[in-house]
Amino acid sequence: MSKYGFVAVPRDVHQALPHPNPPKPHLTTDIPTTKLAKFVTDYTKEKLPTETFNHLIRVYLYLKAIIADQYPQWDLDDEVIYVTAMLHDIGQIKECMDATKMLFEFYGGMLAHKLVVDHTGDRDYADAVCEAIIRHQDLGDLGYITTLGLIIQICTILDNVGLNPELIHKDTLDAVNKAYSRKGWLQCFAGAIDNENTRKPWGHTSKLGVDKFREDVLANKLAYEKL
Ligand code: ZN
Repeated sequence: MSKYGFVAVPRDVHQALPHPNPPKPHLTTDIPTTKLAKFVTDYTKEKLPTETFNHLIRVYLYLKAIIADQYPQWDLDDEVIYVTAMLHDIGQIKECMDATKMLFEFYGGMLAHKLVVDHTGDRDYADAVCEAIIRHQDLGDLGYITTLGLIIQICTILDNVGLNPELIHKDTLDAVNKAYSRKGWLQCFAGAIDNENTRKPWGHTSKLGVDKFREDVLANKLAYEKL
């Protein structure tokens, strides 16, 4: 295995996980506090709206829970998971949108690569984060992806569209969403999709359907919190 996720797994979640385990509750909502983790927390809190910041933390906590339940044999490093989760949407900030005509995932991946190299000097670490960010919306049923790339796809689409909820326990979803509110998130994300598709109509986000993806997001009716 690999602490950076450089192991090929099927890109299709149903091939990668044909027989999911019954999920268990994971109620801890702690986040890592290493030097780089703290930098990334402060950086994303400063640069992104609260709705997006909370989405990033939720994605990290889903990652932890789903790996524990469904992929206990993986040995992905916790800080690598956190840095990837927290930076996966960094390409949506205004200064990135203004700086490039490249797709937000690509430019954000490149920015994350630089941040990780600057802080660690570890190019494998930076490559892993960058590759997973670039491919986090690269959903499909053919070919392979890193373990880190697969799990970030699963967890972002779970938070945005409500897919594959059987992989995570209802109590985990409840604890995470109560700790990091999803209030306003779907509208915020739908706006980011429209902004990307308007400013970069050639972009990768359009592959998910210019109107369809926004509508799928706004139609997400998964009950994340218990009443
Ligand atoms: Zn996201």
